[in-house]
Amino acid sequence: MAKTGENCTFCGRSRRDVNLLINGISGAICDECARQAYEIVKEQMPEKKSAFGLHKEDLPKPEDIKTFLDQYVIGQDEAKRYLAVAVYNHYKRLIQEVTPDDVEIEKSNIIMVGATGTGKTLLARTIAKLLHVPFAIVDATVLTEAGYVGEDIESILTRLLQAADYDVEAAQRGIVFIDEIDKIARKSDNPSITRDVSGEGVQQGLLKLLEGSIVNVPPQGGRKHPEQKMIAVDTKNILFICGGAFDGIEKKIAQRLNTRVVGYTASEATAQVDRNNMLKYITPADLKSFGLIPEIIGRLPILTYLNPLDRQALRNILTEPKNSIIKQYIKLFEMDGIELTFEEEVFEFIVDKALEFKLGARGLRSIVEAVMMDAMYSLPSTTEKKLRVTLEYAKEKFEKSDVNRLQVA
Ligand code: ADP
Repeated sequence: MAKTGENCTFCGRSRRDVNLLINGISGAICDECARQAYEIVKEQMPEKKSAFGLHKEDLPKPEDIKTFLDQYVIGQDEAKRYLAVAVYNHYKRLIQEVTPDDVEIEKSNIIMVGATGTGKTLLARTIAKLLHVPFAIVDATVLTEAGYVGEDIESILTRLLQAADYDVEAAQRGIVFIDEIDKIARKSDNPSITRDVSGEGVQQGLLKLLEGSIVNVPPQGGRKHPEQKMIAVDTKNILFICGGAFDGIEKKIAQRLNTRVVGYTASEATAQVDRNNMLKYITPADLKSFGLIPEIIGRLPILTYLNPLDRQALRNILTEPKNSIIKQYIKLFEMDGIELTFEEEVFEFIVDKALEFKLGARGLRSIVEAVMMDAMYSLPSTTEKKLRVTLEYAKEKFEKSDVNRLQVA
């Protein structure tokens, strides 16, 4: 009899004939048999999870979701609360075991209105990070009605499939962030007489996805080719989060507020209106006057807004989030064994410049980059172990950089 440890107990092959032999107490297994055994285990014992891989107990509660978002996104409490509740309900809906007479919970797609660079994408991205679901960002501006130059609506799902590594099941419970949804508004509130290639037609197409239907998706995106094999994706459980700046919508909100507040309480009501942040008062009616069709608005039942970022918010964005810009630079230097520190005034300087050049939160990174460029280039080749960025240093480096090249990423 062969000696224990010299042959695989399962296939009998000797140590010489296999790549690897793993010894046990009274037997051994070769790499090939181990692999097969693993396949059998996987097949016979599917992971005990609900259909969507989620248990109710595992679901983060709205307050937990908000706390998580707080680590990455500064301010925007209103939007965070709406998102937290919507996402929580969405996942409750996914794990609901529907019996025929049960109340079916409807999907709660979300629309966020706020100036660019105030954190809409960041919020959606952070939510996806928390939930470990496939997440895709698409830009509504490139979408056109089928048959026109541009991308078909289905390409949205192609992106999601790609994000899910073509795991259709996973994609079907993912999150899609549609940015710049305001760009597909029709040009006026009146239904168009002529064809509106990028407006109403696209909204109609989008409606199909938002409603929940089986959509045939070209796996590689682009145009549909007759010979291309399509993948059927059910959008019933995909959460759509839309975002847009809706430039000029404040005027429509103001108009509506003005017409409503007539009568003897008018002066009192008008006095309470926060003129600096009209978005606070947004309602679905304003989206309609902006040019979204009522059907789309109906499929985006959760409407929330983002506040403009003030000086303090910009200052916080620089250092407070878990992966704030400054923390990222400190990490980069740390990897070269260099301790990077900043004078407090430097942060004020960076915020001043972002405000001066009207760059918003996105500009913060370009400004820090401009200040740090020289050091990032030369320090790794020196024996320097410390760098303290003083106001003087920051000013000098910033002025040396080509300010005009600073632009919003
Ligand atoms: P939007 O989608 O509203 O146009 P983004 O979410 O893409 O804006 O924001 C752009 C960048 O600005 C983000 O990557 C982030 O670095 C920063 N930023 C914007 N708003 C916030 C915020 N509220 N908290 C933290 N960072 C923010």
